[in-house]
Amino acid sequence: MYVRIVEGCIACGVCESICPNVFTVYDTAQADNANVPGFESECREASAACPVSVIKIEE
Ligand code: SF4
Repeated sequence: MYVRIVEGCIACGVCESICPNVFTVYDTAQADNANVPGFESECREASAACPVSVIKIEE
C-alpha cells in the first residue's frame, strides 16, 4: 500500500488523529509511507474520513 496526499488538504487534523503513526499535519498533511505496514486499516479509515478526499490509497 502507498498513501498519497494530493493537493487540497485543509489541515483539519482528522487523519493525524486517526493514525498519528503515518500522518503528520504541518501546513498540510504528510504521510510517512515507511510507517504504513501494520496500519493499513487506519490509513483506509483516514482516507474515508478526510473531509476533502485528498488521501489516496494505492494498493
Ligand atoms: S484529513 Fe484530509 S484535509 Fe484533514 S489534515 Fe488530513 S489530509 Fe488534510
